[in-house]
Amino acid sequence: MNWITNYVRPRINSLFSRREVPENLWTKCPECGTMLFHRELSDNLNVCTNCDHHLAITPRERFAALFDGGLFSEVKVPEPLADPLQFRDQKKYPDRMKAAQKSTGEKEAMLVAEGEMGRTPIVAAAQDFSFMGGSMGMYVGNAIIAAAERAVKLKRPLVLFSAAGGARMQEGILSLMQMPRTTVAVEMLREAGLPYIVVLTHPTTGGVTASYAMLGDIQISEPGALICFAGPRVIEQTIREKLPEGFQRAEYLLEHGMLDRVTHRTKLRDELISILRMLGGLPAPTRADLPAPAPAAIEPPESAPSHEESAKAGKKSAS
Ligand SMILES: [Zn+2]
Repeated sequence: MNWITNYVRPRINSLFSRREVPENLWTKCPECGTMLFHRELSDNLNVCTNCDHHLAITPRERFAALFDGGLFSEVKVPEPLADPLQFRDQKKYPDRMKAAQKSTGEKEAMLVAEGEMGRTPIVAAAQDFSFMGGSMGMYVGNAIIAAAERAVKLKRPLVLFSAAGGARMQEGILSLMQMPRTTVAVEMLREAGLPYIVVLTHPTTGGVTASYAMLGDIQISEPGALICFAGPRVIEQTIREKLPEGFQRAEYLLEHGMLDRVTHRTKLRDELISILRMLGGLPAPTRADLPAPAPAAIEPPESAPSHEESAKAGKKSAS
C-alpha cells in the first residue's frame, strides 16, 4: 500500500499533469504563422519578431512599456448608469459585461493613467479591443472627459491610443451621444493650448473614427492598422467593386493625407517623447539615464590630474 501511495500514484499523477502545461506559452503570428514564445513576444511589445506584424496589446501592457520604469497612476473615471436600456440580445448586457470583465481583468474598455514618459509628464488613455471590441459606451465617453479634465488641470498633453469596433450597440443612442461629448473634451484641450496626440491602433472603426480618434493635433498610426468608418467588406458589397490593395490601412491613409505618421510600436515611445517635448518647448529628450555620479567624481582628490593633463595623456597613449 505504501509503495502504491508513495511511488506509483505520484508517478501516474506526474504523467497526467504533464498534459496540463498551458498551451498559451506560444502564440501563432496571424500574418506569417511563426510560433512566437510568449516572453519573446512580450519583450518585443507583441510585435512579431519575424514579420513585424503588430498583434494586439492591452492598455496595461502598453502603459507599463510607455511610462518611465513602468510606473503610472490610474485616473478615476466616473461610473455611468449600468444597462440604461435593459438591453438583451442572445445574452443580457450585464452578463456580457461580467464575462468581459472576467476575461480581461479590467473594469471597462478604456484605461486612463498619468505619469512621466522620458521625464515628460503626460496623461494617457488607451482603449482595450479585447473588452467587447473596445466599443464606445458611456464609460469610454466618461474616461475621455476625465482624461481631458485631468490633462487641463495638470497642464499636461493627452496621448490617446484608440482601438474600437465603434459605438456600443447595447447602449443605443446613448453611445452615439459620446461622439459630441468626446469632441467637446478634445475642444477643452485645444482651448487650454495643450497638445492632443492620437495613436490609432488596429482596428479603429465606426463612431470612434468619426469623433475623438480623428481630432488629434498629430495623428500617428501603428503599421497595418485598419482605420475606417465603414469597413471594406461593407463598402465592397455596397458599391460592388473590388477595393484597391491595402485600402483603409495605415500606410494607404498616410499616402492619402489622413495621417501624419506610421510608426513601429517599438519606436513609438521615443517618437512621442520627441514630439511632445518639441510641442511643449522643452529641451531635447535624454536618450538614456546617466549613472549616478561616483563619490570620487564629485570631489576629485588634490593629486588627480586636471582635464587638460589627462587629455594630453590620452593623446600620448593614442599615438
Ligand atoms: Zn509574423
